[in-house]
Amino acid sequence: MLGIPSLLADGLILVSFWKPVVLILPFIGWGWIVTRVLDKHAARFFLPREMWNIGHMTAGLVALLLAVLMPVEGEGGFWAGFGAVVLILLGDIVLFAQITNKDERVPEQFHLTLDFSKWTEARKAKADAKKAGKAELVIRAADKSLLGVPAIDAPEFQVRLAAESLLMRAMDARASQVELAPAGKENLYGAVLTIDGVRTAGATMPASDAVKIIDLWKAGAKLDVNERRKPLQGEVNIERGERKVKARVSSVGVQGGMRLTLLFNPDQAVRFKPDKLGLLEAQMNELREIVADPKGTVILAGMPDGGRTSMMYSVLKLHDAYTTNVQTIELDVQDALEGIRQNVWDPMAEGPDFSTLTRSILRRDPDVVALAEVPDQNTAKEICKADQERSRIYASVKAPNALAGLQTWMKLVGDAEMGAKAAHGVVAVRLVRRLCSNCRVQYQPAPDMLKKLGLPADKVKVLYKKGGQVILKKDPETCPACQGTGYAGQEGIFEAYKIGPAEQELLKAGDWNTLRTELRKRQLPSMQQAALRKAVDGTTSIEEITRVMAEPQSPAPAGAQPAVKPAASAQPAPKK
Ligand SMILES: [Zn+2]
Repeated sequence: MLGIPSLLADGLILVSFWKPVVLILPFIGWGWIVTRVLDKHAARFFLPREMWNIGHMTAGLVALLLAVLMPVEGEGGFWAGFGAVVLILLGDIVLFAQITNKDERVPEQFHLTLDFSKWTEARKAKADAKKAGKAELVIRAADKSLLGVPAIDAPEFQVRLAAESLLMRAMDARASQVELAPAGKENLYGAVLTIDGVRTAGATMPASDAVKIIDLWKAGAKLDVNERRKPLQGEVNIERGERKVKARVSSVGVQGGMRLTLLFNPDQAVRFKPDKLGLLEAQMNELREIVADPKGTVILAGMPDGGRTSMMYSVLKLHDAYTTNVQTIELDVQDALEGIRQNVWDPMAEGPDFSTLTRSILRRDPDVVALAEVPDQNTAKEICKADQERSRIYASVKAPNALAGLQTWMKLVGDAEMGAKAAHGVVAVRLVRRLCSNCRVQYQPAPDMLKKLGLPADKVKVLYKKGGQVILKKDPETCPACQGTGYAGQEGIFEAYKIGPAEQELLKAGDWNTLRTELRKRQLPSMQQAALRKAVDGTTSIEEITRVMAEPQSPAPAGAQPAVKPAASAQPAPKK
């Protein structure tokens, strides 16, 4: 009878060099599968890891013993032993797969299979995910702290990709703002992009995904993720390769969930510089006369997001901030103005209300004060009570044109005598989209169309309309300059009128028809005429002017700007 030591010695001496090499191969394969696949699988689905590891070790030991003890005389014996080793190791893996596949903790799509085509499929899917799913953005809060990127196989990683994709698509579309909010339908959220001031529907997604994306952006801006109702506002700095973007992150509870708004580069939202204000020459002369006699109240009329703040800043820059005391009262400062004191009223903060702040500033008799908003009657009355002979006050109201601006002002004050006495001028703005100069299309307008628009047929030979496509190598392609919208950028169209004693009388009497007639007599272009001139010079299209002029008229004056434009007018529009 041979003892084990002598068997071992015989084995070690007699075995040829290639046999141990061949024998070790199944162990390497098995070891890799156990540690890289089976143990990870057990850990992922909370299976009894320890028990399974003992099992694997036992199987491994048995196989090893067999390998060491196997009879080595003759090739037949070796291969039989080799087969047994492979069977034991394979059996370990198959047993693991069969038992764990029946475990309810393991979802069906994660069941283990020995079908190798599925393995390669899975590996390819993972490689694809790695290729497609790379976090591209660097997201930092205002204090420069970095928002970490989750591990690639963590579920949070997919949220990160979705959040990045929402933002990058908005950037690629040249959007100034992207909003994510309930889409009206059950459990569905939709993105809305604002491109050149026009709201455009973007992708929709299940509410559960949208909420995670909203939470990610809130976390990036260091906002309280658990606060789902109260309005929150923060800031993120985003780096996308070389490109850097700042975004104001706001969230608020709305019906059916939450609304997230990312406003890109808020300081650039101020659209025009004073030297390029865009008033027609006669209007600019009128405005300069208004500025040169700095007393009384000038109404600044515009729609929310309609260029009103830009206009206010531009008008203020016509005043000399170094020799005069110029101040603003704003809800949020969109651009820092040199030499001008900008007072911010925060609706969320404890402190005086808007009218009280206005009164305290006006009492100090500043030379020029501009209010970015007249939120209520109290504020309007404070303006009227200020010394109109010593101060120039600019009061911004929500209205689509000069006449509607005056109507809104009078209604806000609620006292015809007071409101009329204070009024010294009105300037109104609206924004039209600029045609993309890369793809705009020239055409010959029909004579009756020109007649309808009041344009001289002998002078206007061509007009332009939006294109959206360019021809490259005979094939039409989406215009790269405007991403196919046909427009790029916005332009202000204005009305500007001085208000003198005669107009004040008409205001007091509420005689709007006569006032309109009187203003027309001044040979100053109306807003529509100003817009048509910009169509004639190819800046914009008739289609765009029609769209802008058909927008809702005179919404009711209110405090904070609504994020969504009101659908219906609350006040009667001035009769044309
Ligand atoms: Zn274009």
